[in-house]
Amino acid sequence: MKNGAYYINNILIANKTYSLPSTYTPGLLPELNNAFEKLKNAAAEDGISLKIISGFRSYHSQNSIYNNYVARDGKKEADTYSARPGHSEHQTGLAIDVNSLMFDFGETKEGKWLQNHAHQYGFIIRYPEGKEAITGYRYEPWHLRYVGELSKELYNDGNWITLEEYLGITSNYQN
Ligand SMILES: [Zn+2]
Repeated sequence: MKNGAYYINNILIANKTYSLPSTYTPGLLPELNNAFEKLKNAAAEDGISLKIISGFRSYHSQNSIYNNYVARDGKKEADTYSARPGHSEHQTGLAIDVNSLMFDFGETKEGKWLQNHAHQYGFIIRYPEGKEAITGYRYEPWHLRYVGELSKELYNDGNWITLEEYLGITSNYQN
């Protein structure tokens, strides 16, 4: 624990099992911003345009987002695509959403480019296709988590290893 946050093997974890305190407000961290600049420039050289559409989210803004979804779809459904406050990886300051929140983003040229190149710049596709039961989230081709050098190992030739698998941890709400 550091500032109320869980680190496992020096990796900050926010998932359905591990939460961050409401006071944890790092903002979008410089190491992520630097890595994203490199990712964006490399993409541009391949004719791919990337932009951050969602970065740091505070506990309080996640609280309003989640509660709006619960009001619209009910808690059970909301839990499949929106994090409860304290459980969003966006609160770590190490996660971003890029370009589009459409489920077919993974099939676009930008989505495919990310699948193949994000790991070269320290990012992972945090919620890969087919790993829903492990991460606790639907496939999110737009959600990138910055992990530094570890990204190359997790890439695993395109068959992403999730942080849950790598660290041997769960992602389940306790209630
Ligand atoms: Zn996201």
